[in-house]
Amino acid sequence: MILTVENINVYYGNLLALRDVTLQVGKGEIVSLIGANGAGKSTALKAISGILAPRAGRIVFDGGEIAGLPPHRIARMGIAHVPEGRGVFANLTVVENLEMGAYTRRAGREIRESIEKVFTRFPRLKERSGQLGGPLSGGEQQMLAIGRAMVARPALMLLDEPSMGLSPFLVGEIFQMIEEVNREGVAILLVEQNASMALSVAQRAYVLEAGNIVLQGSTAELQNEPGVRAAYLGG
Ligand code: ATP
Repeated sequence: MILTVENINVYYGNLLALRDVTLQVGKGEIVSLIGANGAGKSTALKAISGILAPRAGRIVFDGGEIAGLPPHRIARMGIAHVPEGRGVFANLTVVENLEMGAYTRRAGREIRESIEKVFTRFPRLKERSGQLGGPLSGGEQQMLAIGRAMVARPALMLLDEPSMGLSPFLVGEIFQMIEEVNREGVAILLVEQNASMALSVAQRAYVLEAGNIVLQGSTAELQNEPGVRAAYLGG
C-alpha cells in the first residue's frame, strides 16, 4: 500500500467531521471515495495532505507516518492535492501555473522536461500556454490543475471533485486525463459526487456517510449493491 489511513478522527472545533475513518490506496491504484454533500470527503483529503491534523489515528504514506505534518512537507514526500474549485492562479499564465507545481523540486532542467511532458500529453494546455489562468474554461482550468499536480511528480494524487461544474463531455475528457495520469504510475484517491463516473474509473471504492465509512469494496461489487444503486446511481 502506498497510503494507509487508520481510524482517524478529524474535527472542526467541536464538530466531529470524520469518525474512525480507515482506508487504503495501493501503489498505482485508483480508489474512489463517494458520498453526499457534507459527508466528509474533502475533509478526508485535507487530513491526508496535512491541511487538517487528525486528533486520533494514523496516516502512513510510503512507509512513514505523516499525520499532523505540515502540508509542504507532505507535498515534498510525494502527495499532490488538487483541491475542490481547482485553485488555478488567475493572474498567472498556463505555463506559470504549471511551474508552481514544481515548488517541491529543485532541478530547473527536469522541471522543464516535466512541463514539456504535460504539454505533449495534453496539447490543449500547450495551445494555451501563454494565456492567463483566469479566463480559461472550467474544463481547461481542471486540466491545468491536474497538469500542475503532475509537474510535482507525485506518487499519490488526491483529486477533489474534478467533475464539478463541467458538462458531460468535459467530464469524460477529465476522466480520460485521470486514467492517463494513472497509467504513468501515479496512484489516485478520487473524491466525487458523480458516483457513476467515480466507480467506472476506479478499481475500489469507499462510501462515506456523515463522517463514517459505511461500505467498501471493488467497484464491480459496489455498482451492484442495492443501497449504492438507490442512493448514488439513480436506482
Ligand atoms: P462537499 O462535496 O459539499 O464538499 P464533503 O463530503 O467534501 O462535501 P466536507 O466538506 O468534508 O464534506 O464537510 C464535512 C462536514 O464538515 C460537513 O458537515 C461540513 O459542514 C463540515 N465542515 C467542512 N468544513 C468546515 C469548516 N471549515 N468549519 C466547520 N465545519 C466544516
